[in-house]
Amino acid sequence: MARRSLFLKACSSTGCPALTRERFCPRHQHAYSRVRAVANAFYHSPAWRALRALFLASHPFCYFCGLRASEVDHIVPRHQGGTDDPSNLMAMCKSCHSRKGSTNGERWGRAAAARC
Ligand SMILES: [Zn+2]
Ligand SMILES: [Zn+2]
Repeated sequence: MARRSLFLKACSSTGCPALTRERFCPRHQHAYSRVRAVANAFYHSPAWRALRALFLASHPFCYFCGLRASEVDHIVPRHQGGTDDPSNLMAMCKSCHSRKGSTNGERWGRAAAARC
């Protein structure tokens, strides 16, 4: 286990000289998780609820299985720079949505492209 300490590297935050075994030094790790928290909070915001309801009204069926959709998902996740434009959204049912959650993003992207 002493070997792990050999892998100290610079914090991933630009210009930060701190050494860490994680991606960020403790100071930047904190800032980074705050960004994630803000991203998650978006999905509970009235703005997203409204957008989601609007999208489901015009896309009532699951993109994958054709059952009644109840979830709206970003094709390119927001934290990877995806927008809230309808072209970056897809409607899906609960079971397809949870299946998506368990597949890795890259594989998912290819599966979605193959469907088009
Ligand atoms: Zn840092
Ligand atoms: Zn479905």
